[in-house]
Amino acid sequence: MLLRLATRLLWPARCAACNAFVPEDKAFCQDCELSVSELEQACHGCGLPNTNDGRGGGRRCHGCRDKPMPFSRVWTVLAYGGATTQAILHLKHGRRRHLARPLGALLAPAVAAAINSGVNALCPVPLHPRRLRQRGFNQALDLLRVAERLARRPAARPLVIPDGLRRIRDTPALGWESPASRRRIVDGAFAVRRPEWAEGRRILLVDDVMTTGATLAECTRVLLRAGAAEVEVVALARVC
Ligand SMILES: [Zn+2]
Ligand SMILES: [Zn+2]
Repeated sequence: MLLRLATRLLWPARCAACNAFVPEDKAFCQDCELSVSELEQACHGCGLPNTNDGRGGGRRCHGCRDKPMPFSRVWTVLAYGGATTQAILHLKHGRRRHLARPLGALLAPAVAAAINSGVNALCPVPLHPRRLRQRGFNQALDLLRVAERLARRPAARPLVIPDGLRRIRDTPALGWESPASRRRIVDGAFAVRRPEWAEGRRILLVDDVMTTGATLAECTRVLLRAGAAEVEVVALARVC
């Protein structure tokens, strides 16, 4: 308790986007929150807002029914943009690693839902070792650790496999590449560190941002080849 109080005095809660003071349980200030958009009706196949009218569409959009991605379920929390983008950029490039706490808390309900639906291993999308050295941490792992702690029953054993995957090739930032060239760029970029851990598991892959899904799809293919029973993915933000 004392330690918590001390931490709070040293680092009072700040808005993850604009750095204004906020109540301790808030990630964003009121102004920034106006630009944060939750993806409540997202498609289970691609994580994008689902524009189906529900007639025969179920929880998947038309695109996903025609051409499904390799993962069996996508959980997305926020639309990329506005204060959400600011917060993620501060976390990744602004040396504000502590933002993983409020942002990871936003991810927790999706992680809890995935665990309740039978996921039994959680694994972050890895950074290439060179990028990890530059940044000092993998933001996806930080977000995952916070979310998992909040999502897991206290007595349950931890489900995080921090180094389940590794990035064997450093890929350039995917920027504005087309979907086809994104897939080419990430092809062969990942490997399973020890295939035994993945075998028969229902895995939840975690990343901060899902753009087209090329990176998550490639990681999924690698895990399925290693014997994973099923792979679901969760991203804090989805580029829409
Ligand atoms: Zn703000
Ligand atoms: Zn879809």
